[in-house]
Amino acid sequence: MASARQISVGGVPIGGGAPVAVQTMTKTETADLAATMKQIRVAADAGADIVRVAVPREKDVDALRTIVRESPVPVIADIHFNHTLALKALDAGAHCVRINPGNIGGHEKVAQVVERAKEAGIPLRIGVNSGSLPAHLRELEFTNPVEALVSAAVEMVELMERLAFDNFKVSMKSTSVPNTIASNRMLSERIPYPLHIGITEAGTKWSGSLKSAVGLGTLLADGIGDTIRISLSTFHAEEEVKVAWEILKALKLRERGPVLIACPTCGRLQFDMDTVVAEIERRLEAYEDPIEVSVLGCAVNGIGEARHADFGITGAKDMGMIYSRGEPLKKVPTERLVDELFEEIDKYYAAGKKVVRDETAAAAAREWLAENEDATAMTPERMAALEAEAADREPARLDEEASPVAGRRFTRA
Ligand code: SF4
Repeated sequence: MASARQISVGGVPIGGGAPVAVQTMTKTETADLAATMKQIRVAADAGADIVRVAVPREKDVDALRTIVRESPVPVIADIHFNHTLALKALDAGAHCVRINPGNIGGHEKVAQVVERAKEAGIPLRIGVNSGSLPAHLRELEFTNPVEALVSAAVEMVELMERLAFDNFKVSMKSTSVPNTIASNRMLSERIPYPLHIGITEAGTKWSGSLKSAVGLGTLLADGIGDTIRISLSTFHAEEEVKVAWEILKALKLRERGPVLIACPTCGRLQFDMDTVVAEIERRLEAYEDPIEVSVLGCAVNGIGEARHADFGITGAKDMGMIYSRGEPLKKVPTERLVDELFEEIDKYYAAGKKVVRDETAAAAAREWLAENEDATAMTPERMAALEAEAADREPARLDEEASPVAGRRFTRA
């Protein structure tokens, strides 16, 4: 369940029902101010609510003061092993400091960091990692890694509570997707504090995005997780941010920018849809409004499932059509489809979010659609619609009589 408590990281609320905050971590050497600030700005433009910077050296903590002042979004300092750096990061004005109490040098040093955070009114993120559990839990890690991870996190939370500190969020990181899901589910039942969730070292942009979508998507769909970070092996922090947003948009947890829907294509496709979809996706990045844009590879279905899209295109060999909310707008040569689509989108915004329709052009497009539509073709979309209809009509038929394994499932010889 969503965390009961809320903290504020530089004005961004985390937990307590606040929108799930997107964060990323810069990949630059933090002390390289120009490079770090450039990456923070690109990540913030892509939609990062918060950024985290690594602070492993004195020169990084020196740079932190300027970064905090100039960053367009709150900054979290990431500290391992060195409590002095954590104290200095708090003094430098970091909006949050991430520590792993298990590697910061003992309870006394943790207490010093907590005391300074209390004085400054700055939250901490306390994190445990499957790779660095306390010695007394290492045995358990082999037999029950989920319980080991949760026990380590609960012990840290108890330590915070003994220190009378409650301005923190918790993270438990594992490279295993099932363990991340199971441990966060368990921890969310045991503690009221906000949870930062992520799959650590998830992998490349391709595999890491998928692993994160499965792991974090499962948790977020259950209402677990108050801030997310996608860890990808890329030097471009904004890529992590884009993936985080796609996950949140897919679950309808947050809205940001346009939603692009595209058919999967099949043997009916008659134009280079790959290139067209990529170009549309690229150009849509310039828009902030959550309009829905649909791309259909052919017109045999008519506008079909894209009826609700704000704008869309469907193409054939030489000609295509632009439509809006189920109604044709105009037909255009295939090579002009993308440019004309964006002209229509821009006209819509210029008219104060009103679709501008030229009736003569719309009539010609309707005619083109009628010629190219084939109501009898058994397309993937129509098969899916028929299956859905059948399932709706006869839900009870998933019983003994209807099932291909009817009578075998519970039959004893
Ligand atoms: S039939 Fe469906 S999947 Fe195939 S190209 Fe046309 S719209 Fe795309």
